[in-house]
Amino acid sequence: MKEKALQFVCTQCGRIESKWLGRCPDCGSWNSFEEEAIQSQQSKPGKTAQISLETKPVLLEDIQVEPGFRYESGISELDRVLGGGVMRGSSILLGGEPGIGKSTLMLQMIEKCSLERTVLYVSGEESPSQVKLRA
Ligand SMILES: [Zn+2]
Repeated sequence: MKEKALQFVCTQCGRIESKWLGRCPDCGSWNSFEEEAIQSQQSKPGKTAQISLETKPVLLEDIQVEPGFRYESGISELDRVLGGGVMRGSSILLGGEPGIGKSTLMLQMIEKCSLERTVLYVSGEESPSQVKLRA
């Protein structure tokens, strides 16, 4: 039997923790964490992706690369690793040991990117306060 996954949510500010805490690091409230079951988001079996039948094959030589398809992150080594910059619409998985500087690198990158465009920073594990202090 599979164990039910639990998380703990601060009733005052909504911070989510994997274990119960006596005091919320974000809002400072005491005994505000309540146990909550994590909702699984499994897709229904048998559901498949739809493919458009109107798409026709195209020769590589006929494909025009749109301007702005890649843009420089402002960090030359990062751009080199990414093959010349960040590809528009792409998702990049950044991995590494805890404390190695992944979040700091991303904040440095968005600082430079935000000079020319609007940037959305999404964090799954750090609270808004942690992100702001690091930034
Ligand atoms: Zn809180």
